[in-house]
This record gives sequence, C-alpha cells and structure tokens, in this order.
Amino acid sequence: MRDIARVPRETDGTSFAYSLVMSVYVIDCGHGGGAQNGKSTAYGARGGSGVLEKDVTLALGQRVRSLLGGRVVLTRENDANPSLADRAAIAHRAGADGFISLHAGESRGVWIHPRASERSRALGASMHAALGARGHAAQIAELAVLTPERLSPQTAACLIEVGDVGDARDERRLRDPLELEALAHSIAGALGAPRATRFGWAGELKRFNFRIRGGDPGTDETVHLPPASSGDRCRLIVSGNVTSNAPRPISFQVSAIPWAGDPSNQRMTLAPGSSSAYSFTWPNAMADADCLVGVWTPEVDRAITIHGDVVVSVDCP
Ligand SMILES: [Zn+2]
Repeated sequence: MRDIARVPRETDGTSFAYSLVMSVYVIDCGHGGGAQNGKSTAYGARGGSGVLEKDVTLALGQRVRSLLGGRVVLTRENDANPSLADRAAIAHRAGADGFISLHAGESRGVWIHPRASERSRALGASMHAALGARGHAAQIAELAVLTPERLSPQTAACLIEVGDVGDARDERRLRDPLELEALAHSIAGALGAPRATRFGWAGELKRFNFRIRGGDPGTDETVHLPPASSGDRCRLIVSGNVTSNAPRPISFQVSAIPWAGDPSNQRMTLAPGSSSAYSFTWPNAMADADCLVGVWTPEVDRAITIHGDVVVSVDCP
C-alpha cells in the first residue's frame, strides 16, 4: 500500500514527536500466546465473533513498524507472550526513547502512569493529540507495564487502548484492516513518522477539522495523487473516523472524487456525541490525478463542526 501525503501535519502536541525523529521506539504488542506469563494474560479481551485482543495488538504493531521502519522494535514478532519484565528488558536492550504498549481490551484511551516522567507525559500528550479525534481519552492509572522503575529514565512510556474487542461495535471496527491502518498512521504520526515509507512515498494522515454552515452542502479538500507505476490497476482507499457536534443525528457521506471518474463514497448517519468509522475503496481504474476528498451532508440547518481523520492511500497490486 502506498501512502500519499496530504495537507499540513497536525501541529498540536507534535513538538515532542519532532524532537524524537530518528529515535528508537519499542512497540509493545499486548498479550499473546496461549498461557499467562506473570501478569501478562494470553488472549486479552475476546470478541463475540472471535476477534482476540492479542491478534489486534500484533497486527497494529506491525503496521506501525511498517510506517516507521527500522526505528521500531516490537516486543513480540509472533503469537508469544513475553512477561512484563521481558517486555521492559527489550526496551532496555534497544535503548528505547519511547515505549508504547498497545491494547484492545478497554474503551479508547491513552494512558500514562501517575508517576510518569516529563518525557512520558509529553509522549502521552503527543499520542493523545494524534488520537484524540478518534475518540481516545487521556487517562492516568498505575498500569504495571508502565511502572517507571521497570524502564530506563530516558524511556518515555504510554499505553494505548484502541477500543475493546469485547464490545461488538469496537470488534467490528478493529476487524477492519483499513481501521488498523488509520490507527497505525495516527500512532506513527505522533512518533514523527518519516517522510518516506517503505514504498518511498511520504505518508501522513489527512486531518479534516472544518465547519459546515447552514445551507452549505459540504466541504472538501484536494488530494494530490502521486504518479502510480501501474496506474490502471491501482485502487484509491479512503478510511477514517468522523465526529460532529450536531445536536441531532445527521446523515452525511464521505466521498472521494478523482478528477476523471465516478465518485466512491460511504453514506452514514452520525448520532450526537458519537463517532463513526468508515472505509471505502474507489474500485475503478485510477490514472495519475488529483482527487477531492470531502464530507457532504444534505440536512444541515445550522452551523456544525465536523472533525475527521482521513487516511488516503493507493494500493497498487
Ligand atoms: Zn490488554
């Protein structure tokens, strides 16, 4: 999958991330294996349709690594369950500047330890800024894996719960590879994702934060697609998450419209105070071109604000 860069990076809370560019991160894929190891349980949360937390954390960690390249060490490469001490030891050996533990067994949040260092607080704030629009609350708790004494003083640490696979809605969301890709972009972005991915293209999250005024049909931004080497067979993939402050349910659609070609879109209803994840693929042949990505709603009768994270990528077989 090729990632294409869009719009300026989110500027809130990223100064820390930029200062750590070229740093080493340990991504801790929570749980694993088939047996508890110390305080690390094997499966973690379990979804009604069979999704396991341990599989989500591994898949997400691998995606983050693919975006950040050689600067990332995972605490496990496969279905194993290192103890919490083992996971900390990996961070020590790597000389980690950051330790980010991934979980999928609680409602969405970014956690730091109550005795977290300044660096850990900055990392947590940076991660929260990157994930906040995706519904992640900032939390503080004495989580064993974040115990400051386990890690080197220079290792900033936080834990991310990307949702609870035990919850049917979250399970559906976290089963979606595009949702994992969008989460990986947010996490990698907070860690100062390099400008070039393994495919040689810049990869950044596109972040919408706009107002739709009464009477406006919607809004959009132009995505400049990079040259594709096998243009005809490439697919444009748009995925993300949208929230709004509308006082009643609104229907809207997220669309991608290449300059030449039919739009692809997803129609959704968004209840007040909720967020909605979406993903869709533009299935037609794609030439090198610009493309509009936007949100349109037919029923806005007063100004509302819609926040959205959008990951636009191009998949060429
Ligand atoms: Zn967990």
